[in-house]
Amino acid sequence: MSVDRSTIWPYRDGEAGAFYYQRYAHPTGAEAERVLGELDGGHALLFPSGAGATTAVALAFCKPGDTIALAEGAYFGTHVTFDQLEPWGLQVQEFDQTGPPPDGADLVWLEAPSNPFLTMPDLPAAAAHPAPVVVDATAATPIHLRPLEHGADFVLHSATKYLAGHDDALLGAVVCKRDEDARRLDDFRTRTGIVAAPDPAYLLLRGLKTLELRVRRQTESAQGLARRLEAHPRVERVRYPGFGGLISFDVADAAAARTVETSLQVITNATSLGGVDSVLESRARWEGDRVPAGLLRLSVGVEPVETLWDDLSAALDRLA
Ligand SMILES: *Cc1c(COP(=O)(O)O)cnc(C)c1O
Repeated sequence: MSVDRSTIWPYRDGEAGAFYYQRYAHPTGAEAERVLGELDGGHALLFPSGAGATTAVALAFCKPGDTIALAEGAYFGTHVTFDQLEPWGLQVQEFDQTGPPPDGADLVWLEAPSNPFLTMPDLPAAAAHPAPVVVDATAATPIHLRPLEHGADFVLHSATKYLAGHDDALLGAVVCKRDEDARRLDDFRTRTGIVAAPDPAYLLLRGLKTLELRVRRQTESAQGLARRLEAHPRVERVRYPGFGGLISFDVADAAAARTVETSLQVITNATSLGGVDSVLESRARWEGDRVPAGLLRLSVGVEPVETLWDDLSAALDRLA
């Protein structure tokens, strides 16, 4: 399908059809939602970014005074988004997602695997909690995990990352298990105007055609690179959940991390993850002392794995 940028569609015989004004819905977005909904096994809704999707879920399903139990070590940006909502009466309590969520939480927010610590949540423990469960599965993608089949109520994606996959579309998505939740979130989205435009929706549709190919290749390469990083004498610790294209590993300190960042020739020294081009960065530049000073996050792309290892090992050898 090609992108339709119309903001209006004519009534037929005086009656509105499926599409009439873009803020309510548009054909490109609806098609991308259909495809993503099938992949995750629920009802998908697009948002202009992952952070926009996070904001919409929090505002549509929480009320003043509510507490969100947030996975410790989860995406830094999620915590800072919730901080913005604190004046509206939302509280955040961090907890270790490898165990049960705290009693009294009104919404449980997990990440599979967490970015950049790459822990996996205890999904059965979260499903047993009375509060609705959101799983940010940006890093797992539906190729590796379908959280709705494990008791989650909502899946959240930064579609900017693996789903679109080429570092050229900013987009978020929420996949709802229940139709009534999808209707509530859709209504909230239309009324507040936190809506995704047709162009990024088109890029998502195109990216989804190769999602499985890309993610399988990235996983295979990341598995090999994680093993080789483990064996490298300048690498102090490797975090890798066994699947997916994200690895985080520690070198001695901030100076060593900077040397690796600035020595790479093939892997781009940039933020973000999930694209076809490999990127690496020190996370302490954003997260401060929440992460080890020498922690480097590597998002493995689709380049030949030997090329990636040659680049990484040459950079690490400069630490000798
Ligand atoms: C990037 C990211 C987000 C935020 O998404 P944006 O599209 O940048 O707004 C949320 N969760 C995770 C795990 C991410 O990596």
